[in-house]
Amino acid sequence: MADVKIHTYDAVIIGAGGAGLMAALYASRKANVAVISKLYPTRSHTGAAQGGIGAALGNMEEDHWRWHAYDTMKGSDFLADADAIHKLCQEAIPTVIELEYMGLPFDRFPNGTISQRRFGGHTNNDTGKPVMRACHAADRTGHMILQTLYQQCIKNNVNFLDEFHVVDLIRVDDTVRGVVAIEIATGEFHIFHSKAVLFATGGWGRCWEVTSNAHSLTGDGTAICLRRNIPLQDMEFFQFHPTGIFKLGILITEGVRGEGGVLINKDGERFMERYAPNIKDLASRDVVSRAIYLEVQAGRGINGQNYVHLDITPDTVNHYLEQDGEDRRIDREYIETKLPDIADFTRTYLGVDPALEPMPVQPTAHYGMGGIPTDLDGRVLLDAQKSVLPGLYAAGEVACVSVHGGNRLGTNSLTDLVVFGKLSGSHMADYCQSAELLPLPDDAAGEIMAEFERLRNSNGQVKPHLVRQKMQATMTKNVSVFRTHDTMSEAISDLEELRDAYLNIQVEDKGKQFNTDLLETWELGCLLELSEVTAVSAQAREESRGAHARDDYPERDDERWLKHTLCYKETEGYRLDYKDVVLKDDQLDIEYIPKPRVY
Ligand SMILES: Cc1cc2nc3c(=O)[nH]c(=O)nc-3n(C[C@H](O)[C@H](O)[C@H](O)COP(=O)(O)OP(=O)(O)OC[C@H]3O[C@@H](n4cnc5c(N)ncnc54)[C@H](O)[C@@H]3O)c2cc1C
Repeated sequence: MADVKIHTYDAVIIGAGGAGLMAALYASRKANVAVISKLYPTRSHTGAAQGGIGAALGNMEEDHWRWHAYDTMKGSDFLADADAIHKLCQEAIPTVIELEYMGLPFDRFPNGTISQRRFGGHTNNDTGKPVMRACHAADRTGHMILQTLYQQCIKNNVNFLDEFHVVDLIRVDDTVRGVVAIEIATGEFHIFHSKAVLFATGGWGRCWEVTSNAHSLTGDGTAICLRRNIPLQDMEFFQFHPTGIFKLGILITEGVRGEGGVLINKDGERFMERYAPNIKDLASRDVVSRAIYLEVQAGRGINGQNYVHLDITPDTVNHYLEQDGEDRRIDREYIETKLPDIADFTRTYLGVDPALEPMPVQPTAHYGMGGIPTDLDGRVLLDAQKSVLPGLYAAGEVACVSVHGGNRLGTNSLTDLVVFGKLSGSHMADYCQSAELLPLPDDAAGEIMAEFERLRNSNGQVKPHLVRQKMQATMTKNVSVFRTHDTMSEAISDLEELRDAYLNIQVEDKGKQFNTDLLETWELGCLLELSEVTAVSAQAREESRGAHARDDYPERDDERWLKHTLCYKETEGYRLDYKDVVLKDDQLDIEYIPKPRVY
């Protein structure tokens, strides 16, 4: 290991988004922790989150954590675990208050309490009407969370290693010994030797062509764990957010509809009234994305094209507020105050003033409900019997606790980050008190260094960007809002071909310093694998549930499919196994009975 620098910590956290920073804050109170991030921390995708963080504070109207829990279970299409949901919804309340005390500048109601807005799928369980549950700081909620947590971490002397790209996990049998990373500036390899490792590396939306996800969201941590014999759970459930900017995919927050915005087809019809008569434009995201898709298919897209309009102009909104019997009215100033970034985006990217004109939108690949299976303390689980891999943790979008099941409700990811970031960080710190630092195996970085040498020196003919384009095209065509057995077969066979092409890839930059060409090629390898896991898991699930909608199996099938998928990587291809869904929380003695979802 002559060329490798070795650093030693009690624990390392990979990722400096909301989950990584919250975990770091808690873990660093008891243990010597380093946060390793390929991006400068405040550039993490959490900073792009717009609409809000869900917590049943009940600041303006009646609300209860039990309502939040039921909505989350219903939104998940009954594929989430009851004990995890209860933890999420109960802990959301003190954790949001904790963020407020840390200095997070939430919007406020005139009485001084944190301002809350409506969001898809969040309801008053008695009336079925939308409830104000999304706490927000204008439409920059994630930005404020990220900045607040980063400042707290700096104040608490957390060690940051910025712009180090983690590429492997050092696992010896059922123990972890640390990770291997590349320093982006120099291209040097480093080993971070530790008692515990926590992955908080975020999502993998870049598998698709049109996505709300940043360029960096390439599922590195997810793929690293898969390669080290850790299964991935429920990967067939990937959320398409209904309102991405047409063609660009840039997100227009659901907060726009929360503030009264409506979706309109080419005939000027508010079509969600047909698909979800009670809750209309605020149905859960899977339902709204499918509705847009069906409108377009029926020839009711705007100008016969692949998009509909999202309308927040005061004339339209006030008309529907009046029709729905609400007293509230909006004007330009309200839009500019509550949705300043959205107004800015649409002016910049579309030349559209949202106070005067509607915005062209289409579904955009947004969020991975699946990921690395964990328990409520963020400990990574290895199988259907829930065996723990001691010392290995995951939190945030990369993890699957599972609170989102088949479909995540808006605002519940930010809640997930801070609640489970905190629980896993605390547990990891306690673990480090008694755990020993186990020795590094010989040549701990050898295997991954060899793979990088292969990529760097590969004189293949295939350009990485062409492989990426083909992967995104097949995922967008075949593993999208609707799927069938045949479309997924096509995707799997395309991806197998691309896997072979990847062995013959051409990296132009042969240098060491800031070799983004090389690192992006490695990231592409992660995306290819996660695309395949998604397609294989999805093809096996012969039912429609949450975000997984199959034309050839249009019904939910609780008899056969009320179970979580686990996908393992084998030498040749992938192996699937299944795990029970927890519908009963024994501690609280609350049980959920799956019902058809009506919105
Ligand atoms: C545009 C947009 C708007 C959203 N709005 C909302 C919202 O209003 N409410 C809500 O609840 N959710 C929202 N979401 C979802 C939510 O923001 C994300 O799910 C969440 O922020 C993910 O946080 P995270 O901490 O898991 O990871 P991220 O914030 O994505 O951070 C990942 C971290 O991992 C690091 N990393 C990754 N790979 C490596 C590697 N190989 N080596 C080292 N470091 C690595 C990165 O540097 C980064 O620091 C939104 C998402 C998007 C894209």
